[in-house]
Amino acid sequence: MPYGYHGRVLHVDLSSRKMEVEEPEERFYRKYVGGSAMGAYYLLKNTPAGADPLGPENTLSLMVSTVTGAPVSGLSRVAATAKSPLSGLADESSAGGFWPAELKFAGFDGIVIRGKAERPLYLWLHDGEAELRDAAHLVGRLTGDVEDAIREEFKDERIHVLQCGPAAEAGVLYGALVNNANRVNGRGGMGTVMASKNLKAIAVRGRDRPAVADPDGLRALARWGAEHVDESGVSGFKRLGTSVLVLPQSRVGGFPTRNWASGTFEGADKISGEHMAETILKSTDTCYACTVRCKRVVEVKDGPYQVLPRYGGPEYETIGTLGAYCEVDDLEAIAYANQLCNMYGMDTITCGATIAWAMDCFERGLLTVEDTGGIGLRFGDAEALVRMTEMIGRREGFGRLLGEGSARAAQRLGVGQELVVAVKGREQPAHMPHTKRTIALMYAVNPGGADHTVYEHDTSYPRFPERMAELDLLDPEAQGTMKPEMVRYALYSQHMMSCVDSLCGCKFVYGPAWQLYSLSQLTEVVQAITGWSVTLWELMKVGERRINLLRAFNAREGVGAEADTMPPKMQVPLEGGATDGVAVSVDEFEQARGLYYQMAGWDERGRPSRHRLQEIGLQWVADELGL
Ligand code: SF4
Repeated sequence: MPYGYHGRVLHVDLSSRKMEVEEPEERFYRKYVGGSAMGAYYLLKNTPAGADPLGPENTLSLMVSTVTGAPVSGLSRVAATAKSPLSGLADESSAGGFWPAELKFAGFDGIVIRGKAERPLYLWLHDGEAELRDAAHLVGRLTGDVEDAIREEFKDERIHVLQCGPAAEAGVLYGALVNNANRVNGRGGMGTVMASKNLKAIAVRGRDRPAVADPDGLRALARWGAEHVDESGVSGFKRLGTSVLVLPQSRVGGFPTRNWASGTFEGADKISGEHMAETILKSTDTCYACTVRCKRVVEVKDGPYQVLPRYGGPEYETIGTLGAYCEVDDLEAIAYANQLCNMYGMDTITCGATIAWAMDCFERGLLTVEDTGGIGLRFGDAEALVRMTEMIGRREGFGRLLGEGSARAAQRLGVGQELVVAVKGREQPAHMPHTKRTIALMYAVNPGGADHTVYEHDTSYPRFPERMAELDLLDPEAQGTMKPEMVRYALYSQHMMSCVDSLCGCKFVYGPAWQLYSLSQLTEVVQAITGWSVTLWELMKVGERRINLLRAFNAREGVGAEADTMPPKMQVPLEGGATDGVAVSVDEFEQARGLYYQMAGWDERGRPSRHRLQEIGLQWVADELGL
């Protein structure tokens, strides 16, 4: 028996209702390790070029990894990978919680889903068994109710449920996958893909924990984490959650405000992690076996916005997009809108950023109350924000259009294209290239579009020299540039974070800078669990392989450099605060992108070259692409 994993991947064809268990050999697990690297592998193998993202040919995979569920912090995440209905390109999204570990304990390393069921079904995985069950009674219900109903069906409170919500069922293109009613694979519309297959949920429960190769070694690493968390760079997340970032980001002018007009939000104090701790915070929560406990649980009992603890609490990105992007400084309203997103199953980043875009259009007179169904979409109007979030979740009125994201809405209406802040149809999250210049490059070249988690942000390079040295990064440049050394930094840290995505690790726990564990400790964790004599170099290559698989999928769709763009609004100087007057030059961006392609071994159209694919063990991909 292997250590750390089962050697079992479940394939589900919903059209025929056939299920098969594939037992890949160890070499496969070592080469792809899990997560979105394996997801990208199955996507490229099983989804034909030109497939409709919401058609039966699209392949949705939910993969954990060779190390998921081991009793150490930050190893309970799941990667959802599919062709995105927002971009029409390869995309993936990650979520934590308890569901990922429980999937492993249920006897599976991942699920590959194809086809479309004739009627709504849900998948029940337990103790190595898989069963498709009727889900007619679950359709259209809020995520918390669905979770309760499935647990009640089996009289087992320890069942974990991952599901698409009513928003995805109604056709919102950024429908999320929600587990535990508050952990979310948010980006890229993975919930909408699952809903399009008539698959409502995946419930998991099991007791089959794979053996660990070196239990004493792993215990020592877990103990080290628990003993050092309070002095580590992640201690702020333990104390105040990710919303600890609100004040410092606003202070340096890197907190997008009024749809990216400014980097400083006047109301930051009122929506900060500090303010949350003093007001609506009820408790904290964690993911399986994690010592950090970064999750916030909030409660509002009275007033117009009553918030239930079971739907969690808003993260930094959510506070940014539903808050500062829309100039809303009412934390209870933001927490309520966050709850609506989790109840209906929607990505908070896309939802908030799309409403902010609509507010920007409204303020400029590009949209009127005739367009919005009588709602005055003014910046700063918390009531309008909440109302619009609910209308999107229900796909009602103007919410129907905003449920397609800002890029499509602008295209359909023929207004406000220059105000859209998105790459490949994915709205930019709350980290600004004005303060972290190479994030513009990373937003652009990421196969699925703008994503802040794909690399280590620029500010870390000079701050963590010892850890950076593990990646041969020894010469930090002055911040605020995309000079060659910063492009190299972005590329290397991107490959490393891509490996963490493949291992389904939490990027607050494992990484090249401020995270709890260093990269060499990550290597030790993987060694202790799997028994493989794996090296950091080998893990980096896994990360590079994953990115190239996803880019190869896009290249097969005929898409390359033309989609690796920077939104025009980045060139408009910001107003106010520490970044007053700062803009990002398109020349600088394009130069950096060209250099990045060369460093990555891609051609001038941004496609992986044959020789680079061969160098990273992906000859079959070069053949698939006809290179
Ligand atoms: S750091 Fe937070 S998100 Fe990451 S595994 Fe721990 S509790 Fe979950």
